[in-house]
Amino acid sequence: MCGIIGYIGKKQNVIELLINGLKSLEYRGYDSAGIAYLEQDKIKVVKALGKIASLEEKTKNLNILSTLGIGHTRWATHGKPSDENSHPHKVGHVTLIHNGIIENYQVLKEMLLQEGYTFQSETDTEIVAGLLDFYLKQENNKLKLIQQVINLLKGSFALGIIFDDDTNHLYAVRQDSPLILGTAENMNFIASDIPAIIKYTNQYILLENKDIAILSEDSIQIFGENLLKVERKLLTSSLSIEEARKTPYEHFMLKEIMEEPSLLEKIFSIYGFGTPSFLEKIPDLSKYKRIHIVACGSAMYAGLVGKSLMEEYADIETSVYIASEYRYQKNFYQEDTLVIFISQSGETADTIACLRLVKKLGIDTLALVNVYGSTIAREVDQVLYLYAGVEIAVATTKAYLLQVTLLSMLVYRTSIAKDLLNKENQEQIKESILHITKILEEFLNKEFRAEASKIIAKASDVFFLGRGIDYAISLEGSLKLKEISYLHSEAYQAGELKHGTISLVEEGTPVITVITDHRLMDKTMSNLKEVKARGAYNVLITTKDLIKNHDGIDLEIAIDEVHPLLQPLLIVPILQMIAYHTAKIRGCDIDQPRNLAKSVTVE
Ligand code: GLU
Repeated sequence: MCGIIGYIGKKQNVIELLINGLKSLEYRGYDSAGIAYLEQDKIKVVKALGKIASLEEKTKNLNILSTLGIGHTRWATHGKPSDENSHPHKVGHVTLIHNGIIENYQVLKEMLLQEGYTFQSETDTEIVAGLLDFYLKQENNKLKLIQQVINLLKGSFALGIIFDDDTNHLYAVRQDSPLILGTAENMNFIASDIPAIIKYTNQYILLENKDIAILSEDSIQIFGENLLKVERKLLTSSLSIEEARKTPYEHFMLKEIMEEPSLLEKIFSIYGFGTPSFLEKIPDLSKYKRIHIVACGSAMYAGLVGKSLMEEYADIETSVYIASEYRYQKNFYQEDTLVIFISQSGETADTIACLRLVKKLGIDTLALVNVYGSTIAREVDQVLYLYAGVEIAVATTKAYLLQVTLLSMLVYRTSIAKDLLNKENQEQIKESILHITKILEEFLNKEFRAEASKIIAKASDVFFLGRGIDYAISLEGSLKLKEISYLHSEAYQAGELKHGTISLVEEGTPVITVITDHRLMDKTMSNLKEVKARGAYNVLITTKDLIKNHDGIDLEIAIDEVHPLLQPLLIVPILQMIAYHTAKIRGCDIDQPRNLAKSVTVE
């Protein structure tokens, strides 16, 4: 959510640097953008509603060589998207950019209004600039000043700050919102994420909560809560400039789906799936009697696939919860409960809040996370990384698939420990591990056809049907379609549709049914016939040779069968491709769907 970039160093074309940095953070989702830079001892601010292109238009004739600048893409929380509400905000002698929410901004605003301050925007952010400016009159030590002000703030923030009277330094601080510092020769950066700075450096530092950083052209100093200097590890990112580009694909989303076969191979090899080393690399959960899975959005849907597998193969009662509900509801734990948190970014605000809550109770925690060193990764008892690389399309594809993959691995590991898998099943799983990436690669490159999307793109409502694990997968298929093609879509347990929602099915309504479970095939086929009788256009997603009678099916997409523990890994990409092609036909902004942000760092 929101993108932050800040630069201090030798003179550079600072507008170009900031705008390029912001462009590489577009994936985080935003509605307006702005920059501030030093020009002849003055801080200049330019802001524009809408895409970065509008900001580019406003700055196209400016060719400024400067040593200092900050840039921001805003995802509005307080005040509508507008020029005025965009960041940076300048109040008196302070200019800043902010990611997050200041929950108590209203009382602080009252205080500043009484002191004679006036504000240009409706944002919570401008109040922080006001507070810094107000206290600056009494406290010129910038470290003490920043600490004094952040101690007044409730909520989450990553801030990049410039003071008019100290333009040889760029200041940064964070609390529960991500911020990294990048370092290269004669230049230092602040950023929300690596892609913003990868053109200049792959060396970065993760700021800890409440760390205050002072950057100059050739130094980075970090101060902990007691304002004493602290050392933070210098890390090296493996991201390449190439990886941060979508070429040769038209969209990042397509690129990321096409990466899935090789990512499956990578994660299998990292965790030694199917080899003896697997037993050491993936934790055995057999000592737990119940599992709670806590997550948001697609990660929560990955959890539902995990639940289905965990109960079926590892015999552990598993419940899946939406993080924003979990933290306020009454939860029941026993000593033998494990809570699994799933988050691509590791910065999902509600999931972090749940993790802290659960940890306070002394319950064991495990997290599946993509971003190295993210808040969840650092705070959880045990972390398993997804190794998805940077996911740039806002709507997740590869990270979701790898979340499901890791859950399948945990299930497999645990069912082996509990001796619940017979030899035949174990052999089939090993066989599937050997072939699955090839099957998926060939399917995506040669077999997949986008015909279904031509019909779906014209619809106003779409339904997904499935039973058991097929329903869990359908939920994500339906969400993907909604997110990027702006079509109304719902996933239903196949047997449940007729208890009400079938009234919405009319002539031509696309119904996408997933059937991979042999035991439930006949039952779901009957449901498919029921909607056909009411005019549905039936798309069936299944495994080759499973369906013998193709009556009532308008379009069938079939892929090879593997062991049911791994079958979701072949079905999910098909649903992602359907969503992708539908959105493309409908001319949607596939990589940056409206209103959505990549990592939801606010509650
Ligand atoms: N709460 C701030 C605003 O609405 C910052 C939002 C963001 O993280 O982009 O301006």
